[in-house]
Amino acid sequence: MATISPLPGRLAGKVAIITGSTQGIGLGIAERLGSEGASVVISSRKQKNVDEALEKLQSSGIDALGLVCHVSDSAQRKNLIKSTVEKYGSIDILISNAAVNPSVDPILKMSEAAIDKMWEVNVKASILIIREAAPYLSDGASIVLISSVVAYHPQFDIAMYGVTKTALLGLTKALAAELAPKVRVNCVAPGFVPTQFASYLVGEEEKRKQMEAKTLLGRLGTTSDIAAVVAFLASPDASYVTGENIVVSGGVTSRL
Ligand code: NAP
Repeated sequence: MATISPLPGRLAGKVAIITGSTQGIGLGIAERLGSEGASVVISSRKQKNVDEALEKLQSSGIDALGLVCHVSDSAQRKNLIKSTVEKYGSIDILISNAAVNPSVDPILKMSEAAIDKMWEVNVKASILIIREAAPYLSDGASIVLISSVVAYHPQFDIAMYGVTKTALLGLTKALAAELAPKVRVNCVAPGFVPTQFASYLVGEEEKRKQMEAKTLLGRLGTTSDIAAVVAFLASPDASYVTGENIVVSGGVTSRL
């Protein structure tokens, strides 16, 4: 597997907020954006996780701010934006990454509470944080929503979760139009990445092999694979790209 290297200085002077960024894909994105020169604002629900991730980033020389922010908590979202602007002045990059999958029941058997939670965290909170950040977004700012490859095939035990991720594909198109030409809005749809979130899919050796076999490249993704594409979209290299959904899945989808 080829090594993925950051492009030092590509994001120098930029300020990036990444939600759900104390582990997994979100932390991988923070590490990548930070190693390209951005100041990164990380957050998640638990103070301990924020402290540990902050220590990790800062010890590798990345300028970082860490805050507790459950994305469905209006006061914590507003504090995230306010603290970022107070410290850095404006926002250049916003990555909406936090998501939950509290139930694997079929859609028609799922509790209303689980349905509400998925829409609340995965979709509504993405809309609200973008709305709250909008007044502080710089000219040329870049927003990236994190969807999923299952957005294209919402089936079986992750169908409801998949449908919320399908909504993000549409949201990307809609917000790209609303925020143009000042701000670009794009979406990354990861394939299977063995994080805590995906542990029930790839936790056992047999399941892991099955998931690997579904890819054309014969392997699961890494947080670095996803972060590299997010960094591209966040950077001036993607300055003519908006309203797009990029699948980063090792070739899992059959979509054209
Ligand atoms: P993960 O390793 O479980 O990490 C999730 C992160 O989000 C943690 O830092 C967690 O910290 C935080 N978090 C969870 N709920 C939150 C909330 N309500 N508000 C704020 N922060 C919250 O998950 P991941 O696999 O990296 O997933 C990240 C994104 O990638 C999600 O949008 C997911 O849908 C998407 N994705 C993942 C895969 C995959 O295979 N892993 C595939 C496709 C798409 P706390 O516990 O401290 O809150």
